[in-house]
Order: sequence, then C-alpha cells, then structure tokens
Amino acid sequence: KEIGFRLSSLIQQRVLIKLEAEDISKEIEPSQGAKPNSDFSQPLPKNKAETNIRINKRTKKNMGRGDGILGIRDAAEGGSRATVTRRKKWLKRRERWLVVLGVVLHAVYMLSIFDIYFKTPIVHGMDPVTPRFQAPAKRLILLVADGLRADKFYEPDSEGNFRAPFLRSVIKEKGRWGVSHARPPTESRPGHVAIIAGFYEDPSAVTKGWKANPVEFDSVFNRSRHTFAFGSPDIVPIFCRALPHSTWNSYPHEFEDFATDASFLDEWSFDQFQSLLNRSNQDPKLKELLLQDNLVVFLHLLGCDSNGHAHKPYSSIYLNNVKVVDNIAARVYNLVEDYFKDNRTAYIFTADHGMSDKGSHGDGHPSNTDTPLVAWGAGVKYPRPISRSNLTDCGFRFIDEHMHDTPTPTEWGLHGIERVDVNQADIAPLMSTLLGLPCPVNSVGSLPLDYVNMSEEAEVEAVLANSKQVLSQFLYKSQMKQSNSLNFKPFKPLAHYSTMLNEIEYQISAKNHEAAMKLSEELRGLALQGLNYFQTYDWLMLMTVISLGYIGWMIYLVLHVLQSYTSLSGYPFRKEQTVHQTNDTTKVQLCGCLFMGVISILLFIERSPPLYHAYTTVTVFLWTQIFSEYQFIRALWNQLHGRRFYYIIKILGTCAVSVFILEFLVNSFTERQLYTWCFLIVGVIASLTLFKSLPWRSGIPLFACLACWFLSVFTLMPAEIPENNHLVIGSGVMIIMIGMAARWLDLHAEGNKYWLSICNHEMKTTSFPMLFQLQALLVGLSSVMVSLSTSHRIQKRELLALHQFINWFIAGFSMILPLFSANGLLSRLTSIFLGFAPTFLLLSIGYEAIFYGALALVLMAWILFENTLLYASKVKRSPASLQNVKDDVGLEFGNRYLQLSDVRIPLTFMVLFNVAFFGTGNFASIASFEISSVYRFITVFSPFLMAALLIFKLFIPFMLVICAFSAITKLNRLPRLGCYFLVIALSDVMTIHFFFLVRNKGSWMEIGNSISHFGIMSAQVVFVLLLFALTNIYTKDIHISSTHPSSRKAM
Ligand SMILES: [Zn+2]
Ligand SMILES: [Zn+2]
Repeated sequence: KEIGFRLSSLIQQRVLIKLEAEDISKEIEPSQGAKPNSDFSQPLPKNKAETNIRINKRTKKNMGRGDGILGIRDAAEGGSRATVTRRKKWLKRRERWLVVLGVVLHAVYMLSIFDIYFKTPIVHGMDPVTPRFQAPAKRLILLVADGLRADKFYEPDSEGNFRAPFLRSVIKEKGRWGVSHARPPTESRPGHVAIIAGFYEDPSAVTKGWKANPVEFDSVFNRSRHTFAFGSPDIVPIFCRALPHSTWNSYPHEFEDFATDASFLDEWSFDQFQSLLNRSNQDPKLKELLLQDNLVVFLHLLGCDSNGHAHKPYSSIYLNNVKVVDNIAARVYNLVEDYFKDNRTAYIFTADHGMSDKGSHGDGHPSNTDTPLVAWGAGVKYPRPISRSNLTDCGFRFIDEHMHDTPTPTEWGLHGIERVDVNQADIAPLMSTLLGLPCPVNSVGSLPLDYVNMSEEAEVEAVLANSKQVLSQFLYKSQMKQSNSLNFKPFKPLAHYSTMLNEIEYQISAKNHEAAMKLSEELRGLALQGLNYFQTYDWLMLMTVISLGYIGWMIYLVLHVLQSYTSLSGYPFRKEQTVHQTNDTTKVQLCGCLFMGVISILLFIERSPPLYHAYTTVTVFLWTQIFSEYQFIRALWNQLHGRRFYYIIKILGTCAVSVFILEFLVNSFTERQLYTWCFLIVGVIASLTLFKSLPWRSGIPLFACLACWFLSVFTLMPAEIPENNHLVIGSGVMIIMIGMAARWLDLHAEGNKYWLSICNHEMKTTSFPMLFQLQALLVGLSSVMVSLSTSHRIQKRELLALHQFINWFIAGFSMILPLFSANGLLSRLTSIFLGFAPTFLLLSIGYEAIFYGALALVLMAWILFENTLLYASKVKRSPASLQNVKDDVGLEFGNRYLQLSDVRIPLTFMVLFNVAFFGTGNFASIASFEISSVYRFITVFSPFLMAALLIFKLFIPFMLVICAFSAITKLNRLPRLGCYFLVIALSDVMTIHFFFLVRNKGSWMEIGNSISHFGIMSAQVVFVLLLFALTNIYTKDIHISSTHPSSRKAM
C-alpha cells in the first residue's frame, strides 16, 4: 500500500511538472488572438444579476472570506497562474471528452431500439414443411400495383363509374376480395417481402439499402419451380437476383422520372410478359418450362406509386393509373387463359402499400396501410353473399392488433359480398397453399382459409402445414435461447406441443376435421405468441440497463456543469492535491472495472449480441464515474445543508418548472396545438415583464406580445401543408420588410445605452458594402423563381435546366453571404436571417414560408427580452456591489458563472427548438415529408438527394434558433458549452420519458410514432451539437461591445 501511495504521488508530481512546463512554453510564445484583458488576475467589468450578488454574499458568510465555496478562491487568489491555465486545459479536455461520451452514449443507446424493437425475426436452419395435399393450381400470377390504396381502388369516381371494372366483375362473379393490411414502414421493400416471403422485415433492413439483399431469406419464389418477374429495378432483384430458377427483367432507373405520366411502367411489365409468351412459341424449351407446374409469374406495376408521389392520389393521373392497372389485369387474365386453356391458374392482385393524400407513404396511416386484395382462379373460392354468421375474424394477429373488419364504405357497392381482410404476410402462405408448396420458412402469415377452395381434408392439411412451419420457427428460437442462457425461462403454453401435434394427427386419422382444424389453428396462434415471446425475451434487462444509463448520464452532466461553470468550480484541483482521495477514486474505479468484467463474462457465456456488452459497459462506466466523484457530491450535499431554506425552495422550484416545461414538450409531440396556448400566454407574460423592467415607454413589450401571438397561429394550421404559392411569394416580401426594419434599427439606434450591446456601432466594419441590398435582392429573386418554376410545373412541363441552375445557385450563394456581414449582434443575425431565406423559400410550398418570418420575430423578441433583463440589472446595480464583480468572473473568455436563474435560457431554447419543427409539421407524418417541396431543385427520383434536401429544409429553422441562442449566450456572457450540456441534460429527461412511452401494442401508427419520438430525442444530442458546430461558423465572430465602460474605469 505504501509503495502504491508513493508511486501515485510521484506520477502526480510528474504530471504537475509537465503541465507547468507547458504553461511556461505557452507564455513565451506570443499569445495570438488573445484579448488584452483576458488576464484573470485582473477582473473584467461584468454584468450580473442581482441574485448572483446575493448568493455570493451568502456564500461568503457561510464559508468565511477567501475560502470560496469549495476552496477555489485560495487557488485563484493565490495568484497561481499555472492553476488557472491548468484549470482551463482540464476544462477543455473534459468538455471534449463529455461531447465524445455523449455522442457515443446516445448512439449506443439509440442502437438499443434495434435490439429491443427492430430485432430481425429471421432465423436460419429450419426445414420446410412439405404439405400433404394436392395442389389446386399449377401456376400463380401475382400482380402487385405498387402504391395503390384500397379506397381509390374500390370507390367509384364522381360520375359513379368504377375505376376497376374488370376486377370488380371478378369480385362479383368468380373470386374473393378484401383489404390487405400492410404494416409500417409502408415502404416498397418491406411490403413486397411481406407479400412474397411472409414475414415483416425489421425496419432496419430499409437502411441497409434497397437493391442489395442484406439477409438471405426464403420466399414463395424460392420454393417455386421457376419464377418469371418483371418490374422495377428496386424490387425485382431483391427476390430474383440470387435465384437460379428465375427469369427476370427490369427497366433502367431513368424510367422513373416522375415529371411524366408513369403508367407506361406498368405497360412495360405487361409487354415483357406478353413477349415472353410469344417467344415461347418459337422456343420449345421455354414452352416446356411454361407448361410445368409450380410456376410463379410476378408483374410489378410501379405506375401508381410514381404517379402518386408526383401528382398525389387525388390527381387524375393517379386515378387514371388505377384504370390502367385494372386493364392490365384483364389483359393478363385473357392472355394466360388463352395460352394455357387448362383452368389451372390462380391470380392474386394486391398492392405493397397505399399512398397518403400528400403523395407519400411510410407511416401507419390507413391510407398507407390499407391495400386491395383480389384473388381468383384455380383453388380460390367463389364470392359468397354476406351473412351475420360468416363474419370471420382472422384469429391471433401477431403484434399488429388493429381491427380488421372495419365497415365497408357503402359507396364501394360491395357490401353484399363477403369481404375477407388479411394481414399482408398472410398472402405468402395463401400463394404457397394454392401451389401446394411448403410455406416460406420464416413466414409468420396465417393461411386465410376463406380464400381457398379445397376439400375439408385438404384444408386441414394446409392449415396444419402452416402451423408446423410457424412452430418449427418457434422451436428453433426456443432451442437457441435455451442453449445459450444460464437462466432460461421457457414459453409455458407450448411446453407440450408434441402432445398437441399427436392429438391433431389422431383427429385427422379419425376424420374429425373440425376438431383437427381448431387444434391446428390454436397451435399456430400459440406458436406466433411464442415467437413474439422470444422476440421480446430480453426487454426487461435491456430497458433497465438503458434507463439506468440515461439517468447516470444526466447526473454526470449536471455534476460536470456544477464543477465547471458555476461558482462551485475549482474543486477538482483541490482533489488533485490530496492523494488519499485519488486513492479512493482508484478503488471505486477498480470496483467498477471488476463489476463490468463480471457482467461481460456473464453476457459472453450467454452469447449475447455484442451490443449488449456496449449497453452494460456504458452504464456501469457512467455510474463508476459518478461514484468516484463522491467527494464532490458530499461537499455539494454539505453545501446544500448549510444553505438557507429559501435557497432549497428556489432549487426545487426551478426543478419543478423545468420538469413542467419538459413534460409540456413531451405532450406537444402528440398535440402540437399546445404551442398555440403556450405562445398566447408567453406573449402576455413577456410583454408584462418587459413593461415593468423598461424604465421608459417603448414599443418593445407590444412587439414581443404580437410576435408570440403571430407564431401561435402556425401550430393551428394543418400539419400537411396545403400548397399555396401566393403565401410563399408574399413571405418573400415579408422577409425583406423584416430585414429592412432590423437594418433601420441597427442604423438609427445610436446613443441609446439599451441598444448599445445589440447594435454595436464601434465594430461596424464589413468587407461588403452593399451586402444588405444584395441579400434582399436574392430573397426577392428567389420569390420570383418560386413563381416561375412552379408555373412551369403546373403546365406539366419539366423543370427547365436553367431554372434548376438558378435555384441551386441562389440557394448556395445566399448562404455564404452572412459570413461577410458586420459582426454586431443585430446586423449579423439579420444577415443570417436573410441568408437562409432564399433556400427556405425555394423549398417551401405553403404557409411554412411565413412561419420562417414569424419565428425570426419571436427570436428577436427573445433577444430583446434577455437584453432588457440585463439592462435592468445593470441599472439597478449599486456602486457598492462593484467589489463583488470579482466573484462574477472566473471562466474563460470573460464568461461569467452559471446561476440557477440561467436555466431559463436552455429551457426557452428547447421550447423554441421544438416549435421550429412543430410550426410546420408533426411527427405523425415524419416519414412522409411533403415531397413536392423539392421539385424546384430536382425532377428525377433520387431518394437520397430528396431526403437530404428535405432534412436541410427542416434544419433551417433550427439553425435560426441556435444562432439566436448563441447570440444570447454571448450577450449574457455565459459559457456556451455549459448551456449546451444543460440543453442535453434537459432533453434527456424527455428521452427517458419517451423511452418509457414506447409501446408495442395498439395501432402501428402509435407504435411507430412512439419509437420515432424516442429515436429523435436520442439523436438530438448529435443533432444539436452538429447544428452548434454549423452555426458557430456564422456566429463565432459576433462581438458584443463592452457593456459597462464606466465600471471598468471604476476598477
Ligand atoms: Zn411501393
Ligand atoms: Zn413509393
């Protein structure tokens, strides 16, 4: 022990020597860019709130003079320059470390949703279950109309004519129909996987790319003798690229240019199929192949999807495409029947997903999830008139629990005919059964018996085969879990599955089909439940670890903020001086390491996924760090103990208000109208406060009130922005007017002390004399371009290359200009506001363009509010308090310590940051952005560029808020990173709340939203940081003129 003690003190000394040597070498170098008054031994004239003075006075009473709160004062006042420099370095290192830790932690914990909710359902190694019945069909034609929503398919048009006459005649005369319920994400790839392979792909597959096949999976095509597939290059290769027994073709990507009518894509697929049949007349080998059994023909019809995206599902082009699709179905039917003439073909017509009114898909809205399903031909039942008794419910619904048999709208004109709804994945076992093939091994679909026309015996065999296939998946998963876990908890209801199987076999041999059917269905239901059980097996453990981790992170952050940016800071240096404490810290850390090791070994034995190690490691690490700060925590506790009751109440009050605001924000995620109330009330409160604080009569309170009320309007508007070009153009005028007003204020507010810190006339230098005029001109020009390029699009013409070029140029050029503006607070912010306006206008389609101006006005009001508080505190300050200014200083770059009341700034920031999003949208439609807003930049369908542009559009209001936030921290001389950490700690309160709000029951809309809320909140740490870094380019050289020249003289 003695040796260890010596050793650690030796190391300590070495570190000290090294640090001091660095300091000296630093001092020898001429410090570049350092402000002449950055010397800490000479305090700066500082503005400060009165509360701070009071706090400091009280502190002194408690701790005795010269002692500081935790002894920082004697370190700093001892004149030890090295300590201050070391402190600075330590802080810098610590900040960098915290940012890295925060990013890593949030990334790791965000990945946990992939382990918890998006765990891939695929397992390998099960054997297919060969069915024991005669196949009713020899071949199957699968027609998928991409993006065709159910209501547009079934309902009549305004003149009462139905759009799909052929398929309606099928429904009425020779087939079955229903609604197939897709599961979010309602995207093409998961939709097709559900139809063809029978399972719901984990949404992470979407991120792994559309063209490549991230995982091998079994499909109906795989089981077929041969598959012919024609369609989009995004879909067909998913299933056919690795399939040797397939013939497929797809058109080049350029065909998907969405400026024209895309129904020719459907025709392309049909033509391919037709020419295949024609070719077979000359090709005997092909003919022989076509005449064999177990064939699948898949025609992917992309027209509806492309036209829906480009022209929305209410457009005549989309609706006409429904007719095209129906016509193709008719032609395919006639072609096939003419060719084979054997009545052994089954037909299935469906869609992979719907299309929302905005021309997008992806979320769980019924317009996206409800797709038509029509089946007819060999092995399919004939229509049956509806009766009360045959209203079947399709049994257990796997995770997806929404109601299926929603009433059929009367205008569909189909209420007399039985409708059978299915889950999208049920189509795969249906196709397998029609062809007499084994179900795809990963399928979780339940065979919809109401579609199949077979003998009772064959029906039982078909359901049994389906049940066995689901059961074998369950058994495989159960086995894998059992072989790995130390404390295995089996799924009890299926403990005696083999008795159940025997019972079913017995009933079948006794020709007791009804009982056998009932048992088979029960077995399938249990097996599906069991699959779900193993899918969610680790939830409790993971959720505990992760919520502990978040809590630890918040505590750690708050400790850091207290240690580094408040008057409590400086403590760590005292710690370094006492070796005993270091020794204790080492002990704590050693314990932490040991604990971590034990957990890792346990996880390793259980063969847990590598990320499980990451979750536990991060959590244990954080708590170890917190425990090793126990000295500080104890000191903190003693501090609080020594304080007066009033102070404790104040802290608790601040916490309560913060939690209230954060809970308000959590609720606003589902109800954006809350912001309307919020801003109506805030407008009144802010203007009253301003009115009281300002000693002279001015328009500022009125301005703040009106700005808030103006902004409150936007959260009442529909989240799905209606197109309105006049608003966009009008907003251009408004933005120029706001800019001119700010400019006028900037130029004419001289001589007033209140405006001094904002306008900053001493520093007015710009390398660009006509900058303001140029920026205003660009805003005007972008308004003109908005009207020009849209009028071209309305006339169904393509976006002119010239327009496209000008739009890109304006957007790019205008964003560089703010960098050259004068560095006064108001002039720089005005310039940033004008700089992003053209890009935003070009990306706008409706009222959100006005929102941009309204948000800027509120941000201005916020700045004025903070400036007023500052001004009021300056006016009130008595000369006697000047000696306390010393306590105020102590952070780098002349920043002052954070105080309790400063929490209002991160809180206000968070409200504004969220309203920047909710002013123009909501999370219900997060996956389905308004796609037409990118038309002024691109015409060819390129998902990544489009997504990038849309995300950039979202970024712009956020950037404005962050710029204002940065300006306010400069105005108040607060440490910006300290405020950033507070924002992160506060937003993690919301993250935890959302983590617990994540649900796995209810409609998919709710499930999807709850998951995306959590994901978005976890991403915020990176998101905010990224935006901080980005906006720092614009705001870093904002200069606030020294606000209190008289006090400096007094010093
Ligand atoms: Zn699609
Ligand atoms: Zn689409």
